[in-house]
Amino acid sequence: MRSRFSAYATKQYDYVLNTYTREKQEGLTLENLKQSADGTLWFALQVTPHSAQETTSDIVEFTAFYYENKSLFQLHETSNFLIEDNQWRYHDGTLHDDCGKIKYGRNLPCLCGSNKKFKQCCATKLR
Ligand SMILES: [Zn+2]
Repeated sequence: MRSRFSAYATKQYDYVLNTYTREKQEGLTLENLKQSADGTLWFALQVTPHSAQETTSDIVEFTAFYYENKSLFQLHETSNFLIEDNQWRYHDGTLHDDCGKIKYGRNLPCLCGSNKKFKQCCATKLR
């Protein structure tokens, strides 16, 4: 999960593609991924801890924060990961109702967990 977020944030779409399950990779191309991610700046990820774990499938709830058209958005999803070829791969996910544009105070602690104020940290990436 975290490595896929990093790949999105640094635009390494080959990694993003290769960490989809085989079934999902069939409907995707690098070009699709680039186009859908174009103009989106991912900057913070918060993973919700959970207790249930199995050996070959895992559920991850996370909120990722991004900028698009100079606005702040959040993506809140519960994702299903599966192990294929000894690697955790993203299969599918369910979006929560609170996805979309959000407001966040500039003096609050930054969403990325840096302990700096938002205005002194990731808010500066919006310029
Ligand atoms: Zn930050």
